[in-house]
Amino acid sequence: MKIDFKALVEKYDSPLYVYDFDYITHRYSALKEAFAGKKSLINYAVKANSNLSVIAHLAKLGAGADCVSIGEVRRALDAGVDKYKIIFSGVGKRDDEIEEALQRDILMLNLESEAEMKRVEMVAKKLGKEARISIRVNPNIDPQTHPYISTGLHENKFGVEIDMAKRMYIYAKKSEHLNPVGIHFHIGSQLTNLEPIKEAAAIVADLVRSLGALDIDIKFFDVGGGIGVVYDDEKTIAPEAYTEAIFEATKGLDVTILCEPGRYMVANAGAFFTRVLYEKQNGEKRFVIVDGGMNDLIRPSLYNAYHKIEAVGVEGEKSPADVVGPVCESGDFFGKDVPLPPLKHNDLLVVHSAGAYGFTMASNYNTRPKPAEVAIEEGKERLIRRRETYEDQIALEKEYLQR
Ligand SMILES: *Cc1c(COP(=O)(O)O)cnc(C)c1O
Repeated sequence: MKIDFKALVEKYDSPLYVYDFDYITHRYSALKEAFAGKKSLINYAVKANSNLSVIAHLAKLGAGADCVSIGEVRRALDAGVDKYKIIFSGVGKRDDEIEEALQRDILMLNLESEAEMKRVEMVAKKLGKEARISIRVNPNIDPQTHPYISTGLHENKFGVEIDMAKRMYIYAKKSEHLNPVGIHFHIGSQLTNLEPIKEAAAIVADLVRSLGALDIDIKFFDVGGGIGVVYDDEKTIAPEAYTEAIFEATKGLDVTILCEPGRYMVANAGAFFTRVLYEKQNGEKRFVIVDGGMNDLIRPSLYNAYHKIEAVGVEGEKSPADVVGPVCESGDFFGKDVPLPPLKHNDLLVVHSAGAYGFTMASNYNTRPKPAEVAIEEGKERLIRRRETYEDQIALEKEYLQR
């Protein structure tokens, strides 16, 4: 399959996000096959890329959804995800979010504190319902990843300690309005080492066994997301090794295994295209200034994340340059010391592996419109979100303007 990206950018303008849906299919299938023979459900973590067409594509393949707001739950439902395949996670939920999740009868709410459990019980009682819940256990395991995306240590705000989890299950078991069906952990993102996942799974599986002794029957064993991807030259976790480790930890347990990959599913399927405005030299330093900015793709600014950057169809001797956007922040860059040929106005650059936490973290900072998104499937391209306009951006302010 050969896509003419220059033509694509001519058609939809830059900056532009492009996603290869066939690659998403490939990723989903590889993981699903690694679970073969076991009861499993892949709950795509919607926050990685929440475009409705992306979710719909995964829903058609059989995926469920892991959502962290009621907005994401609505997206999942709108995109065609089966309600019994939707989980509502997250460290803080409003009463109205809890209420809507219960009304919509999704698979379960994933709880992260005793206080949250009490709120869910109250809301369920008011509605005369029984809330299916799981509890997120914080196993206090160092996931060996970037501190901003580490979530499995007690110093992180996520989940509850083992002893607290046990007390919560005992409480929930007795409650008329709570039905504890699942258990959950998620220790971090961009994990490239299997060992912390293994340790966490073993700790949580032990808890499931001790709950069994109390007649608390856990049906869903949710191992979270976090499988790392290759941005540069990282070694990653193979799907078979991943599932094998989980099978090992859950040996003897009659559970459905859930996992919540976000980045794994979409990061490498996406690319961000931006056009060169001009070059400039500050003393020894070469800058390539492009028409995309940190408002479109914030990962380099936020996490100092590496994305491979190349010029599309430009020849010439390469020399290092910082690729920077037009936003008024020194942190507005996509790459530092990127080897690039001499570039001129309108040359096209591609920022690779931008399918996860790219568009979903985009903002309108500097009153810049969010980019369009295009899907490529079986050699055909189609628009899945149009570029924002200035009118879109001021729509919620205009009627209040006093001048
Ligand atoms: C963010 C998140 C995920 C997805 O993480 P990835 O690293 O993108 O796989 C899964 N589960 C929960 C609870 C999350 O918060």
